Amino acid sequence: MNTSLSGKTVIDWEAFACALDPVETISETSTVKRRSRDFFWYSPILNAQLKRSFGDLVALPQSIDEIAQCLRVAHAFDAPITIRGGGTGNYGQAVPMDGGLILDMTAFSDILDIGDGFVTVQAGANIKEVNEALNAKGWELAIFPSTQDIATIGGFVGGGSSGIGSVANGMLRDPGNILSLRAMSVTAAPEEHLFEGDAINHMHHAWGLNGVITEVTLRTVPHRDWIGCMATFDSYEECFSAGYALAQSAEVGRKLVSTVDARICAYFPKLEGHIRPEKHLMVSLVPREDLDAYRSLVAMQSGSVDLAMSEAELAAAKLPHVFEFSYNHTTLQVLKADRSATYLQVGVPTPPDPAKVAALAPKLGDDVWMHHEFALLNKEIVSFDLPIIWFTDEPRLREIEAIYEKDGFAVYDAHICMVEGGGLKNADYRHLAWKKRMDPKGLLNSAKSREWKNVAHLSPEQIEELIPEDADV
Ligand SMILES: Cc1cc2nc3c(=O)[nH]c(=O)nc-3n(C[C@H](O)[C@H](O)[C@H](O)COP(=O)(O)OP(=O)(O)OC[C@H]3O[C@@H](n4cnc5c(N)ncnc54)[C@H](O)[C@@H]3O)c2cc1C
Repeated sequence: MNTSLSGKTVIDWEAFACALDPVETISETSTVKRRSRDFFWYSPILNAQLKRSFGDLVALPQSIDEIAQCLRVAHAFDAPITIRGGGTGNYGQAVPMDGGLILDMTAFSDILDIGDGFVTVQAGANIKEVNEALNAKGWELAIFPSTQDIATIGGFVGGGSSGIGSVANGMLRDPGNILSLRAMSVTAAPEEHLFEGDAINHMHHAWGLNGVITEVTLRTVPHRDWIGCMATFDSYEECFSAGYALAQSAEVGRKLVSTVDARICAYFPKLEGHIRPEKHLMVSLVPREDLDAYRSLVAMQSGSVDLAMSEAELAAAKLPHVFEFSYNHTTLQVLKADRSATYLQVGVPTPPDPAKVAALAPKLGDDVWMHHEFALLNKEIVSFDLPIIWFTDEPRLREIEAIYEKDGFAVYDAHICMVEGGGLKNADYRHLAWKKRMDPKGLLNSAKSREWKNVAHLSPEQIEELIPEDADV
């Protein structure tokens, strides 16, 4: 009997659910449909492509044995599998392209060990809960996404790249930020493999296509008394200059530096009365002991410090974390009011030049409102733009991208649901070689890789031979 909700599989899903026993499953249509979605709707292009892609059944394993049971049964039934954490990815990474089993990892969420400079967790652990447990012991994650309230550690390692802390501690992929991870194969007898050192990047940012991450050890740093700070400026150039100065400062610590065009700030109703209206905004997290130096830095750049509050003070004032006005939360604040907005991901040439950024703005037009993040990459401060785009149609979107590129700004396609698009740009043959080892039948959401069909017939070693000589390890 074909009971496929996705319409893409010929598996008897009732029999499949019975075979998974005792693993908890959900077959109720609206829940399966909800858990087939992530935040792909940020992109009108992805929304049109993905909004009708659903899985067939959700499984919620609670232990390593239950994860192995799910993978063994899926292997026996030749069932496509999509791994899901909090479902906060932006490119439809957690959307089942071929239907099948949704492996929801959120019930596999224990914090296993907290030590000096590290935390070990099960992959479905909620990031906020991990940070809270760390804070209680004097530590915090070195890097975490602004979606920490919903996202999981496994999802961040599977689909994320940087976040709060990156301006001080670099990108997630940098050596020492992910200390080790374990991942399980989709085979007749699923096995866990340990990845350490350079091998971690064989799994990191592979969008769950080459194994199920089960356990992660992440770098932690001593917890500091962070103050959420908001400073405003008359011009975006001054605001961006202040952001760059703070990101590089030897006097002021920081774990977040974001700059936001004044027109975007008009979509932050919660900040009304807390920041000067119609001014460009710098959002930062600064340690309490560096507040005086921070104030001097802002004054040097002709800005005004409008808000400086601890987490407790923000909560008492019914204000969210300041990082909810940074990274892709900035876009979300606008989308809450108007669904015709979308965004781009653009690298600013290094070193970031405020005059060059200011000169670009009028060329882009009134439908592009800039928002920059600062981060540490290869020991240098870099900046990237996540602008709000008022979407009209795809040709205009591509025209905006071309204007950025003409001025030397690199565009990372935010409107593509293939792992080889976006930041990666090229096929990652290390990921694909490990996919062949860990998922020889290609059950793990293979439709998300453009290149998989070209290499699926090769051995892992033959796929590794395709790695370009100048590739990062
Ligand atoms: C408002 C907003 C703000 C954001 N801010 C940031 C940010 O600051 N930094 C950032 O990097 N990203 C950001 N993102 C993207 C996303 O939130 C993060 O990358 C987040 O960490 C993903 O975690 P998740 O648990 O929601 O993963 P999911 O969306 O569930 O999954 C992400 C990918 O990882 C795979 N995956 C999930 N669990 C596993 C596992 N156990 N094993 C193998 N693969 C797995 C999934 O199949 C999917 O391909 C943002 C997104 C939104 C909507």
